[in-house]
Amino acid sequence: MKGLMQDWPLRVTTLIDHAARFHGDREIVTRSIEGPITRTNYKAVHLRARKTAQALQRLGIKKGDVVATMAWNTARHLEAWYGIMGLGAVCHTLNPRLFAEQLVYIINHAEDKVIFVDLTFVPVLEAISAQLPLVKAYVVMTDRAHMPATKLPNALCFEDIVEAEKGDFKWVTGDENEACGLCYTSGTTGNPKGVLYSHRSNVLHSMAANMGDALGMKASDAILPVVPMFHANAWGIAFAAPAVGAKIVMPGANMDGASIYELLDTEGVTCTAAVPTVWLMLLGYLEKTGAKLPALNRVVIGGSAAPRSMIEVFEEKYDVKVFHAWGMTEMSPMGTLGALKAGMEKLPLSQQIDVKTKQGRAIYTVEMKITDDNGVELPSDGKAFGHLMVRGPAVAGAYLKGEGGNILDADGWFDTGDVATLDEQGYMQITDRAKDVIKSGGEWISSIEIENIAVGHPKVAEAAVIGILHPKWDERPLLIVVAKEGETPTKEEILKYMEGKIAKWWMPDDVAFVKEIPHTATGKIQKLTLRQQFKDYKLPTASAAE
Ligand code: ADP
Repeated sequence: MKGLMQDWPLRVTTLIDHAARFHGDREIVTRSIEGPITRTNYKAVHLRARKTAQALQRLGIKKGDVVATMAWNTARHLEAWYGIMGLGAVCHTLNPRLFAEQLVYIINHAEDKVIFVDLTFVPVLEAISAQLPLVKAYVVMTDRAHMPATKLPNALCFEDIVEAEKGDFKWVTGDENEACGLCYTSGTTGNPKGVLYSHRSNVLHSMAANMGDALGMKASDAILPVVPMFHANAWGIAFAAPAVGAKIVMPGANMDGASIYELLDTEGVTCTAAVPTVWLMLLGYLEKTGAKLPALNRVVIGGSAAPRSMIEVFEEKYDVKVFHAWGMTEMSPMGTLGALKAGMEKLPLSQQIDVKTKQGRAIYTVEMKITDDNGVELPSDGKAFGHLMVRGPAVAGAYLKGEGGNILDADGWFDTGDVATLDEQGYMQITDRAKDVIKSGGEWISSIEIENIAVGHPKVAEAAVIGILHPKWDERPLLIVVAKEGETPTKEEILKYMEGKIAKWWMPDDVAFVKEIPHTATGKIQKLTLRQQFKDYKLPTASAAE
């Protein structure tokens, strides 16, 4: 028997409709690319998104076409998003930090027809536009006064084309399973692969992401997504904030400690989200200036593991609650969030932080388990670690154009490529990416755990651990360290600091000091490059074993 409820397709336009109708005057504040702080609200964004849809229609864009954006987090970017998706087209967020060849590949593979581009990235596209035969127009996201002299063919000015329209546009409707967003994963090996979100998956993800134990946003919140809209949907914030009418504070191009602090302070931000490297910059700034964070009550840290020392500083020194999150582009992107369970808030702070150092519990809609190499499920005992497998309505079922073949197992589980433990309470802890795990004497060593402890040393700025070939143990860990400015830590003092914090056999066999650790376009440590850099490295313990 079928239910008799209304057929209300879950389309992302309903999110901005809701915000405009019930929270119309709630502000969207932007550090604009041109410089000044600008202010708009949901009602105005809603109108200008409809104007954007009309402008795109005039350019010949139809339902199902792909339109890209290469832009920072700004109100204009939000308008372009909803305009593209509201026309029934697919919004493809381009990561400007990718190499030129990767961008050319992605733009052609996705068949982008129009690209919205921020002033900052005009030169990036100018350098490759000759190789992009399918792109019909470039919309520079600025006003007439700031329009650059550009070599881009058919370059249009955002404000000109948007403000030329009336905005009397009705969103294109259709099935909730139609595509609305596209984001390529960085692809450390092989070509990048396109994750194609549907209206339904994004709406469900927004609702799940907004639950109390997840982002838990309210109309009274002011949220600052430092995490870019071009990286895994800004963790869903650009959809989830309008659903509740939260104020959004957009950081534009400036992610340094001083700029982020200024917005947190002057805009009364209550909740913010970013990768650990951004928080390192902010905490460095706070330390230097003695500034405090009175309005901020929670910070979401994800994308890479949040080191314990960082969680401690936020919680103990600044009285800001930390929510450690894990996810991936293929998961829209949120998978877990580390809110405490009943009774845990009564634990001593150090034990609460033990829980928060883990990546958290599955949010509703995410099913999760760990398995061994043969696909057999492992126990949730907090000790066994295995392949982290996920399923759910906002998890990718395939990549665009079938790249990578069938990505699900017979029961519909997607292998995240991460290795993790699950404990009795459901908290998951990432121990490694499957390809980074160190295999020593038949056992696995977690590089992430060693890195997290090493960065707790007061003289260490950043640390990475890779496996180095060893004649007796197959592989042994090498700790690679970037020292804090003006500091010269020794191998002995770092190893001494780690003693007792990890199992003896996990202790790195050596420490190498470098000026810089390479990062991927999404801010992760580039282990592949490090392994190449250190491929001929001889561990002091190797000769002894030979
Ligand atoms: P990209 O490969 O493009 O950077 P994603 O942003 O989708 O793609 O990366 C997802 C991966 O990031 C996860 O599979 C995991 O390895 C890592 N990751 C995300 N959050 C965390 C976290 N809190 N702790 C450790 N690793 C994380």
